[in-house]
Amino acid sequence: MDLSRFPRRRYSSMPSPIEFLPNFTKALGGPRIWIKRDDMLGLAPGGNKTRKLEFLMGDALAKGADTLITCGAPQSNHCRITLAAAVKEGLKCRFVIEERIAGSYDPNASGNNFMFRMLGVEAITVVPGGSNMAEAMEKVAAELRAEGRKPYIIPGGGSNAIGGLGYVACAQELQNQLLQMGQPMDHVVVGSGSSGTHGGLVAGFLGNNIHIPLVGIGVSRDPADQNPLVLKEAQAILDLLKVDIKVPAEAVLSFGDWWRPKYSMPNPAMVEAIQMLARTEAILLDPVYTGKIMAGLIGLSRKGYFKPTDNVLFLHTGGATALHAYESVVLGEPSAAA
Ligand SMILES: *Cc1c(COP(=O)(O)O)cnc(C)c1O
Repeated sequence: MDLSRFPRRRYSSMPSPIEFLPNFTKALGGPRIWIKRDDMLGLAPGGNKTRKLEFLMGDALAKGADTLITCGAPQSNHCRITLAAAVKEGLKCRFVIEERIAGSYDPNASGNNFMFRMLGVEAITVVPGGSNMAEAMEKVAAELRAEGRKPYIIPGGGSNAIGGLGYVACAQELQNQLLQMGQPMDHVVVGSGSSGTHGGLVAGFLGNNIHIPLVGIGVSRDPADQNPLVLKEAQAILDLLKVDIKVPAEAVLSFGDWWRPKYSMPNPAMVEAIQMLARTEAILLDPVYTGKIMAGLIGLSRKGYFKPTDNVLFLHTGGATALHAYESVVLGEPSAAA
């Protein structure tokens, strides 16, 4: 698939490394677990949103934008990385923050909220959970246009067709790395939220004939609600690329057993996963996304979903900045978070 006709900015100087996790594999008792370090991508610190922003920013700059507007939850990694990209390109950046849990946004909180201020966000509008985010961002854009400015709206998670190109690029990068390493993979485990990451990989795998099964772990929805979103995102990306493939329903698989009680709310399996990876490999996960995604990998392994000899690649999508806003939860005994 040819991505070269889409404007792109580069925020990472090299492919994200793929590493084998010997101690974690041993602690788990198999299968063989590998990790792709998208938490090491650029942008203070980066994560999966870095890849999406490369193409979204390319588009924003091509359209002459001077201000980015995006939205997210109070501890949004996506907002932080969008702001970091804006800083790097000399643009302003504004957020609309959705308080999915009433009263949960505290500008003085640690983690990403600290980073919003450190990186110099221009303005934040807080709206109640369930608000129409597209409308709320459009309202901010209208105010800026009235001042003669040129806003560019990025949807939540950067998950539209343009943002999803970042994960088509990731699929191609991964294909190359596995070829160089001479290391086949039997499964790739990926988080599934606003779905640009999962959907982009589905599109990239289909378009590049990569036949490794993708296992999505929902961070906010069960498969009945999540899979259609991923399918729609993957199709939108393939359509944008003018690739003549209709995404088959079987190409999208996800599990919804690890996100409860609610998006961003802790559970004991998440705490166990974060402690286990930190204490076997010194790699940090986050409480909202990758802790629950890794809990899914651990849970599926224990259930015998993977063969003991399988090679399973975990995509680390970043987010450890949020760890500092949840320190006592993630340090506690697993049962303390129930
Ligand atoms: C946003 C995010 C995800 C989910 O990715 P989507 O593309 O929104 O599905 C996973 N992990 C981290 C750390 C994130 O910030």
